[in-house]
Amino acid sequence: MHRSSLRTWLLLVSILFAALVVGGVSVTTYVIVTDGIRGIAVRRATSIASEAGRIATGQSEFNRIFSPTDDTKPPDERFVEELPRTLAAAEIAGAQFALYNADLEPLWSSTPGAVVEATDNGRLAALQNKRRVRSDLAGGGVIQGLFTSADLGTVVVHSPVTFPSGAQGVLDLVFHPIEEETVINSIRIPMAMLAIASAIVMVLLMQTSMAWVLKLVDDLREAADSIDAGRLSDRLPVEGDNEVGALAGSVNRLIERLQRRHDAQTRFVGDASHELATPVAGIRGYTSILREWGADDPQVRQEAIDAIDRESRRMARLTGDLLNLLHTDQGLVFKSVRFDLNALVRDRLAATASRWLDKDLEYVGPGESPLIMFSDPDRVEDVISILLDNAAKYTPSGGKVTVETRRRRDVIVVEVSDTGQGIPSHDLPHIFDRFYRSEASRTSSEAGFGLGLAIAHNIVESAGGQIGVDSVEGEGTTFTVQMPRGRL
Ligand code: ATP
Ligand code: MG
Repeated sequence: MHRSSLRTWLLLVSILFAALVVGGVSVTTYVIVTDGIRGIAVRRATSIASEAGRIATGQSEFNRIFSPTDDTKPPDERFVEELPRTLAAAEIAGAQFALYNADLEPLWSSTPGAVVEATDNGRLAALQNKRRVRSDLAGGGVIQGLFTSADLGTVVVHSPVTFPSGAQGVLDLVFHPIEEETVINSIRIPMAMLAIASAIVMVLLMQTSMAWVLKLVDDLREAADSIDAGRLSDRLPVEGDNEVGALAGSVNRLIERLQRRHDAQTRFVGDASHELATPVAGIRGYTSILREWGADDPQVRQEAIDAIDRESRRMARLTGDLLNLLHTDQGLVFKSVRFDLNALVRDRLAATASRWLDKDLEYVGPGESPLIMFSDPDRVEDVISILLDNAAKYTPSGGKVTVETRRRRDVIVVEVSDTGQGIPSHDLPHIFDRFYRSEASRTSSEAGFGLGLAIAHNIVESAGGQIGVDSVEGEGTTFTVQMPRGRL
């Protein structure tokens, strides 16, 4: 429905456009050509008039000087009688003549049509100013010439003449540019055909290119429909290295991003449910034990209560971590507070040491000198706690945990190293993924969800920083955090 109306609309626009362009060009060309041909006709009429004027002057001179002995007619009368013959003998083609006396009364005309009253003013001007004057009688106009036979009008040239007696008169040349009109008539039809043909070609070309664009619109709509229907594996065909191909490429990249996000979300929900199911199952198991034997056996009762307490703490920690991830996903709002990073690190080292008291680890931190930065101390503390917790957790007794801090121009660098088990190289690309735990960690006695590094990664990226890892299996691991120093 919509598509066909767009097609019709584009067809109408292209027809209108072609008609305007081709029509405009044709009419302009026709006007220029007609005007030029009319100019040629005027020049032809003027040159005939000057030729006729010269002949008339010669004839008048002849009649003044030469008078036959047997003729009693005055020279002016003979002039009027003999002039037509002389003009006819000169064979001036396509022209009509009329001769007027000083009172502008016609004395002779080659055809009755040669006496044109409408040009009286021109004749008077020629008589008074003693020079040639042109009067144009308008024709049918250019627009009329587009549809019917061309009519270029009539050119009348008035030439002053002196009669043998010395009296003044006017010789009119009346010129109908018939040959020029024939030329114009002969170009009209081929020109119209050419204009129609070019308009059709133009409409076809525009329709073809628009059909191509409309196909892309169709493809885009289909892609949107398939996304709507949850089919994220569909892709648009990328044809050609042009804007249309680039658009299809962009849409494909968008779909890919949506697909990755969708996959990650599905995995995340699956993993989270799985992780939650384990403590819930534990709690339910111990509740049954309590119900069965708890009343009689105080030892079983105590064990069950301890286990339920442990499992519910685990659940509380997991839900806390999930909420934390959710918040960091939605984009964190960072405070900008001035604080001493070295003091914060020393504080966290002490907290880690007291948490992992049963492990005999050496902790090395930054010295007393302050390292000032402007950021959100709570978030920075989160990141350092996560890294220190991992370092202590994955380092066996006797190992060493070191934190180094330094400033490099506008960046603060924190390195957390340990001499622990290290991370296998095939695990390195995945450790920042949610719920990812290396094979060794999964099988070890150390509890964990695989969420700590994902949370740290989110926080550091939101602050505009970077987190990286360097690890040699069996030797130890170093996490490097770079964060903008910030300013107030
Ligand atoms: P939790 O969600 O409780 O932090 P976790 O410690 O297993 O669980 P992460 O902190 O995200 O999860 O760490 C992901 C994995 O990276 C760990 O399971 C472990 O395999 C590996 N890892 C992280 N830090 C270290 C380290 N310092 N030394 C060795 N392996 C490490
Ligand atoms: Mg951890």
